[in-house]
Amino acid sequence: MPEPTTPQKPKTRVLTGDTPTGRLHLGHFVGSIERRLAMQHQHECFFLLANMHAFTTRWDKPDEIRADTIEIVKDWLSCGIDPSLAHVVLQTEVPAIAELSWFFAMLIPFNRVMSNPTIKTEIDAKGLGDSYPFGFPLYSVGQCADILAFRPAFVPVGEDQVPHIEMCRFVAGKFNQVYCAVNNRTPEDDHVKAGGVFPIPKAKVGRVARLPGIDGTHKMSKSLGNAIFLSDPPKEVQKKINRIFTGRQSATEPGDVNNALMQFVDAFIPQERAAELKDRYARGDNLGDGHIKQELAEAINALLEPMRARRAEYDKPGRTGDDTVIDIIRRGTARANEVAEETLWMAKEAMRLGFFRRGLTTA
Ligand code: ATP
Ligand code: MG
Repeated sequence: MPEPTTPQKPKTRVLTGDTPTGRLHLGHFVGSIERRLAMQHQHECFFLLANMHAFTTRWDKPDEIRADTIEIVKDWLSCGIDPSLAHVVLQTEVPAIAELSWFFAMLIPFNRVMSNPTIKTEIDAKGLGDSYPFGFPLYSVGQCADILAFRPAFVPVGEDQVPHIEMCRFVAGKFNQVYCAVNNRTPEDDHVKAGGVFPIPKAKVGRVARLPGIDGTHKMSKSLGNAIFLSDPPKEVQKKINRIFTGRQSATEPGDVNNALMQFVDAFIPQERAAELKDRYARGDNLGDGHIKQELAEAINALLEPMRARRAEYDKPGRTGDDTVIDIIRRGTARANEVAEETLWMAKEAMRLGFFRRGLTTA
């Protein structure tokens, strides 16, 4: 008689991603990627290349978006994201996401989208003025679909994304109430048990919720010209660190331990040494910014060195790296479509749209 097999508990799912508007930077690493590296061993992880969202600010730059899509995957791989553990997913090849976005757009009041603080900050920081396309604020609705298409338990993100996750949680709850007869007093963890299609996902903010950019004002952002990229060479890292402005005049002037430089110290220098530096900095104990910047650049370069080595494997001449990357994306997206199509079908049935099922294949 064959041994009875114990049915395996399905892994909880995790969804997160990045927009291909540039290469990945240190803010991504401490805000989200570190956590992804741990999570890929514990959960079924889907890492989304939000290339559709890149068009909301760069609709006229399709070549850049394509190149950045490939570069971001190389960044992920160089950080240690393992495609045999986690799925790399291309947003434009998961049609269920666009379809769910349309339905979810009915569940979110227009004013709620427009008063979303992240949207407001981005319009301001990215200088979009009042001529941004309709699609720009729509991306926040699309992001609800990016997430909910995978019915994940967790979404690892930086602090700037928390208002988006709140909106996503709102949409999940509203959908379950409107179409699945879930009671509005049902605790969020019980929505699926009560018949809801969507679990209410939880944001998991990283070790550093918001790393400032080298401008010391905005958060580090790929599209704001204030980022240290994971693929920057060592000298570039030192040059950029040197540009962090503190306004401090001398090594004996007491410094502000919450300024941008010290936030970098906290993020990249081991805790005990960081505490010592901060203590001396606060007292103006003969500790110049130049000294700190050098130590900081060394610590960051030590962190980036293994990434550079892994990345070099994909950047070998002959573009074979790109083919490898596209193959990784194809495989991850195929699995993503299995889950997202299932979700869409569940949502359609709940919405009385379950007329017949369709097939979807990835070549
Ligand atoms: P863009 O300028 O195009 O908006 P971005 O640098 O903000 O790019 P995103 O792709 O929007 O990067 O964000 C990807 C993930 O990284 C999100 O979870 C976001 O919260 C996180 N993240 C981005 N910047 C930072 C930062 N400076 N500190 C912490 N987390 C960050
Ligand atoms: Mg962003």
